[in-house]
Amino acid sequence: MEITVIASGSNGNCCLVEDRKNSILIDAGKSAKEIDSRMNQLGKSLENVDAIIITHSHHDHISGAGIIARMHGIPLYMSKDTFSEVGSKIGNVDHSQIKHFTQKPFRVGDIEIRPIQTSHNVSSCGFAVGEFGLFTDTGTVTKQMHDILPKLKGVLLESNHDIDMLLNGRYPAYLKQWILSDVGHLSNIHASEFIQEKGNNLGLVLLGHLSGNNNTKELTKKTFETLVKRKINYDVCSRDKASGKWSI
Ligand SMILES: [Zn+2]
Ligand SMILES: [Zn+2]
Repeated sequence: MEITVIASGSNGNCCLVEDRKNSILIDAGKSAKEIDSRMNQLGKSLENVDAIIITHSHHDHISGAGIIARMHGIPLYMSKDTFSEVGSKIGNVDHSQIKHFTQKPFRVGDIEIRPIQTSHNVSSCGFAVGEFGLFTDTGTVTKQMHDILPKLKGVLLESNHDIDMLLNGRYPAYLKQWILSDVGHLSNIHASEFIQEKGNNLGLVLLGHLSGNNNTKELTKKTFETLVKRKINYDVCSRDKASGKWSI
């Protein structure tokens, strides 16, 4: 399986997961033009994408989804709740292109996709796509995340903020409180502890969805290397450009 991180951060998210036959885009939270151009630079094409699957309704996960789906005739998968929250934000997508998933696993071609509950301030989920998991935008590690991680070979996990940097930063108190809450975002410490505790089978960890104001790549790395005692191939995703390709 090949994983291509096209965008990751509170400013836009998009990740391509492929096996030999199928190609799935998780979230499309940059403009269609930007996603297209970043994919082309990595030798990928939207023409080959079989499905776009959406984690939740926030702008940084859906902003290009409607246009890409329409332009390339790609089915757009989201839960019913997310669809009702998204409303007109995805533009004029033909309703026959929208596919709803429930909490149950579903398939796109040969690939099994399992929605995994996350904990956010809107209806949200992560996904296990084959043996790769993507979990971002979650204020806490949910039971479903706990249960699935030991079965995965690769993960893209949110490592949103450094708690001290957030607390000492300039965000208003209500925003700090939300980010730190169980329906906010996962901190560097929580992400690294989760990997240390449950990531025994992981061959690849990608830390992503970094905050632009409350985190740095260096702090993310430092926390990970302090808390994760096993030697493990890991990287921190870039907020500014595509991060690259990995195989699991
Ligand atoms: Zn987000
Ligand atoms: Zn979000």
